[in-house]
Amino acid sequence: MKIRKVTAGLLVAGIALSACGREGSPAGETGGEGADLSYEVAENVEVEGSPTFEKMQQNGGPVIGVKDDQPGLGYKSGATNEYSGFDVEIARLVAAKLGFDPEELGDNQYRAVPSAGREQAIMNGDVDYYVGTYTINDERKNQISFAGPYYEAGQGLLVAEDNNDINGKDDLAGKKVCSVTGSTPVERVREEGLVEPGGEIVELQQYSQCIAQLNQGQVDAVTTDDAILLGYAAEDPENLKVVGETFSEEPYGIGLPKDDDALRDKVNDILQEAMEDGTWQEIYDATLGKSGTEAEMPELDRY
Ligand code: GLU
Repeated sequence: MKIRKVTAGLLVAGIALSACGREGSPAGETGGEGADLSYEVAENVEVEGSPTFEKMQQNGGPVIGVKDDQPGLGYKSGATNEYSGFDVEIARLVAAKLGFDPEELGDNQYRAVPSAGREQAIMNGDVDYYVGTYTINDERKNQISFAGPYYEAGQGLLVAEDNNDINGKDDLAGKKVCSVTGSTPVERVREEGLVEPGGEIVELQQYSQCIAQLNQGQVDAVTTDDAILLGYAAEDPENLKVVGETFSEEPYGIGLPKDDDALRDKVNDILQEAMEDGTWQEIYDATLGKSGTEAEMPELDRY
């Protein structure tokens, strides 16, 4: 946790610096746009016994579930319509190693799905896989499966720059705190009664909506993973700051249809190779780690 906090602070500083150069398009700076990452597209890929892979082949490529409003992780630029960020790059890498050229992925092959809709989108087959700040946990494993983890985040707090009374989760009593429906952070705030007594949890569909409420002074804090909050703070360092220690572990996984073990094995192999051959590091450095700071590569959990 300590290490993460130090890294996080530097990350904000670094992104904030780089965001200064290009006003009006800060998301590009945090999102890895223009990072020119490219992945060798695998040939003659077979994933024996995977109905999802078969479907991707029949359709000429995957449909990938992502976030589109989380700078640095999964972000769609209004100006260019391009997706960028750490999660998006992981999604592209997986596509390439499954044999589908990520450069040829059309707009309709990315589907923005908010936190509350993820399990259903995977179960319905609306997306073939999902990469978007998706915490691996047992409850979700009842409905879908996960490859990974490919990143470890932790729950944190974002407040207005001039707020001096919230410095950690124990300061939330009586406050109005915003988070997103269907997310692990909102559940934690509720289960631990963090805003009690007298506070209020404001639950919205997307983190960008919480940011808008924070900017308008309608809520006192936004809570979710530090990686997400740091992306927003970096876009608006004069008005927003991330405070306190992280207070959970959020291992990010790639969401997959529950019974497709063959695909899960394959995606885990892809992640493992990327962690071993430097690709993971390249992706990290070009997106979340743009400031030159380091993050730990997690151990895969092949359950
Ligand atoms: N990682 C957390 C989750 O999966 C929070 C981020 C999100 O809502 O995507 O619930």
